[in-house]
Amino acid sequence: MLSREEIVTGLQKIIPSHQVITEEQLLKEYSIDRYYKVESIWGIYSLPTPAAIVKPSNTQEVANILMFCNENLINVVPRTGGSATEGGLETAVENSIVLDGSDMKKIINIDTYNMQATVECGVVLETLENEVRALGFTTGHSPQSKPLAQLGGLTATRSTGQFSTLYGGIEELIVGLEAVFPNGQITRIKNVPRRAAGPDIRHVIVGNEGTMSFITEVTIKLFKYYPENHQFYGYILDDMELGFKLIHDVITAGYRPSVVRLYSPEDAHYHFSHFHEGKAVLLFMAEGPKGIVEATSKAIEEIVGKANIQQVDSKHIANWFYSLNWDEKKVEEERIEVKETNNCGFTTEVSANWSAIYPIYKNSIDRIRKEIPDLTLLGAHSSHSYINGTNLYFVYYYDMKCKPEEEMSKYHDPIQNIIVEETLKAGGSMCHHHGVGKHRTHFLAEEYGNSLYILKELKKAFDPKGIMNKGTIFGLNEKL
Ligand SMILES: Cc1cc2nc3c(=O)[nH]c(=O)nc-3n(C[C@H](O)[C@H](O)[C@H](O)COP(=O)(O)OP(=O)(O)OC[C@H]3O[C@@H](n4cnc5c(N)ncnc54)[C@H](O)[C@@H]3O)c2cc1C
Repeated sequence: MLSREEIVTGLQKIIPSHQVITEEQLLKEYSIDRYYKVESIWGIYSLPTPAAIVKPSNTQEVANILMFCNENLINVVPRTGGSATEGGLETAVENSIVLDGSDMKKIINIDTYNMQATVECGVVLETLENEVRALGFTTGHSPQSKPLAQLGGLTATRSTGQFSTLYGGIEELIVGLEAVFPNGQITRIKNVPRRAAGPDIRHVIVGNEGTMSFITEVTIKLFKYYPENHQFYGYILDDMELGFKLIHDVITAGYRPSVVRLYSPEDAHYHFSHFHEGKAVLLFMAEGPKGIVEATSKAIEEIVGKANIQQVDSKHIANWFYSLNWDEKKVEEERIEVKETNNCGFTTEVSANWSAIYPIYKNSIDRIRKEIPDLTLLGAHSSHSYINGTNLYFVYYYDMKCKPEEEMSKYHDPIQNIIVEETLKAGGSMCHHHGVGKHRTHFLAEEYGNSLYILKELKKAFDPKGIMNKGTIFGLNEKL
C-alpha cells in the first residue's frame, strides 16, 4: 500500500500537479457529504480525510487516475456537485482520493433538431437548463438541488426532479453516456432513440453511485418548453387517504400533470402556513402544448371536483413553486439556523404501489411519534407519481438534546430505520431518489431479495479490486 505522500506524488506524475489538491481544510470538507451535518456545521470531522482531491480535465485523465488507483488499491470517491445526502461522498477508509469531475464542465452540443444535449459530467444542471430555456427548450429535469447538482452526480444517483410525473426520472432522460471503469477502460454508449440489442447497458452506469465507474459525459433529452401554458391547482383536505386516492385517480385515468403533490398537514404547515388551515394540501401543475394542458386541467377539475374538497387560489401554488429550489445561499442559511437553534432536520424518501402507500405513511408516522423524542416537525409528502404507485418523502425535525456528534444515532438513524422497515414490510422500496449512499446499506439484502445476486456480480465484474467508493451501496463489511 502506498503512503499518503506516495499517492500524491504518484498522481502528480500522471496529471498536472495543480490538479492534485492537498489543502487540509478542503480535504476535511471533501471527506463528507451533506449527511453529516455535525461535521459541516460544527466543524467536527470524524472520518478519515482523503490523501488528495484530484480534478481531471478530460476523460483520458480520468482513465489514467483510475488505472493508477486500481494498480495501487487506492479507494476512489467520485464527486461532482457535492449535494449528496446519504453519505455517498464520505471517504470511509484511510488514504482515499476524491475524484472530482467538477472542472469538466463543457456543454459539448445542444442539438435542438434531434432534441438532445451532450455535456461533460461537471456541468451544473441549472446552467444547462438556462442555456436550453433561452432556446425555447427544457431538459424536464428539475431536482430541488438544480443550482448545485451536476450532470455526473445526477446520473450516478438516479436523481429525479419536480416535473418527473410528466418527464420521468433521469433514467428516462439519459440517451447515452460515456464512463470510465477502474481498469481505465473508456466506454461510450451511443445516442439512439431505442434499441433492442441486448439488455440496456446504460443502467449499469445510471445509479451506480460511483461504485463501478466514473461518468464523464452524458447526453440528455430535450423537450419544447411552454411556460405560457402552465396551469396550477391547489386544494386543502382533511384526509391523506383521500388525497392518495385522488392522485391515483388522475394518474391511472391516463393524465400526466408535471407536478402532482400531496402534503400532510404538518408538512403543509412548513410550506403553506398562509392558507392551508391546518389541513393537508393537494396540488397539481399541468404543462406542455396548450391542448394537452387544457385536457389535463379539465381532468383534474373533474376528478378532484367530484371529491368536493376546498380549492385554493392557484397563485398560492405558483408562488410557492417558483421559489422551491435550494442554492448555496439557502444551504448556508440552514447551517446557521441549525447552529443557533439546535433544531435539526432531515428527510427519507421511499416508494410503493398505490395500495401500500397510505399504510406506510400511517404506520411510519404513528411509530415515529411513539418511539422518537424531541420532535418538532413530522410530516410527509408524495411528489412523484407513476401508473402503479407513488413516492413518500418524509420530513422530520427535532430539538437536539445530545452532543452534535450523537445526533445521527439518537434521532436520524432510528427515524430512517422506522420508515424503511415499514416500507419494506409493505413491499415498497427503501429509496426513491437519494441513493443508498453509506447509510441505507444495512437494508440492501432485504431491498433486493435474491436479485442481489445480479447487483453483486456487476460489482465484482466491473470493480474486481473493490476500489470504487468503498462502503457505498455495499456496506464496508458486505461479502461480495
Ligand atoms: C437541498 C437539496 C435538495 C435536493 N433535492 C433533490 C431532488 O429534488 N431530487 C433528487 O433526486 N435529489 C435531490 N437531492 C440530492 C442530490 O442533489 C442528488 O443526489 C444529486 O443527484 C447529486 O448530484 P451531485 O452532482 O451533487 O453529486 P455528488 O453529491 O457529487 O455525488 C453523488 C453521488 O454520486 C457519485 N458521483 C458523483 N459524480 C460522479 C461521476 N461523475 N461518476 C460516478 N459517480 C459519481 C458520488 O460518489 C456520490 O455517491 C437534493 C440535495 C440537496 C442538498
